[in-house]
Amino acid sequence: MTARNHLPEMPVIRPPSEWRSLLVRLTRGCKWNRCRFCGIYPHLGAPDFSVRTVDEVKHDIDLLSRLRPRAETAFFGDADPLEIGPEPFCEIAGYLRRIFPVKRLTCYARASTLFRFGQESITALARAGLNRVHLGLESGDASILRFHRKGQSPAMVKKVAARLKEAGIEISFYVLLGLGGRDHWQEHIAATARVINETKPQFVRLRRLWLYGDDSGIAGAECPLWQEIRAGTFVPQSPEGTVRELRLLLASVDDLATFVACDHENNYVHVSGMLNEDRKEMLAEIDSFLALPAAERD
Ligand code: SF4
Repeated sequence: MTARNHLPEMPVIRPPSEWRSLLVRLTRGCKWNRCRFCGIYPHLGAPDFSVRTVDEVKHDIDLLSRLRPRAETAFFGDADPLEIGPEPFCEIAGYLRRIFPVKRLTCYARASTLFRFGQESITALARAGLNRVHLGLESGDASILRFHRKGQSPAMVKKVAARLKEAGIEISFYVLLGLGGRDHWQEHIAATARVINETKPQFVRLRRLWLYGDDSGIAGAECPLWQEIRAGTFVPQSPEGTVRELRLLLASVDDLATFVACDHENNYVHVSGMLNEDRKEMLAEIDSFLALPAAERD
């Protein structure tokens, strides 16, 4: 792709909450690409990682200014657009904000990348207009993160969360129900609740582990975790167990000013609300679901 393309390149994946946002692609694919539970970029036909040039991205923003002149929010992808480097990221963010008076600019981010950046660069990102990062916490349990080759530790996430708060950038955590499997689900939820309680993110978004096969209608390979399942080193959580994980997590976190959302269609139960206001209703909704006969839960 050159700077002369007539349509902007699109990120392969975006958070559901960014459905109205301008979508700007700074990098392609995922540089890390090792998480056992993921493999989603290769699966969706983007196996290779590359960084786009600042000129290419600015050209896309020019194209978007004609296609979506009234956009109010913007999102940078793919999996870790901060891999472009803090200075190019800030240059692009500044360029976008000069053209679009967006109320919010967000991006996906890996904790390990932000950890490398340090406070000064993270503060510079905020000054350039980055308001929020969508960050994959996945689990707060160190051994579960290690098993899944996430490349981050709970301590690293906590440090990064403190830097983001210092800079005034909102945190939107993603938590994967089922990541501990049937054998470690209680540790998974207890440790995840601890990280949430300590970091007090503005958002916690829940998904369930998606064990896609190589027959999901898309050309790519199966979820890498299938290898572990076949080897007997990971036992997938049941649907009911997944909902019980959600219940335990909501019951274990403090009364935080945190918005919780099951905002992905793959969730079995779609509760959402503020922890410090809506927890009771969310738990009641989950309990109603669990009280249904199994055949009526679909
Ligand atoms: S979970 Fe994120 S960091 Fe891990 S492989 Fe998938 S896209 Fe990359």
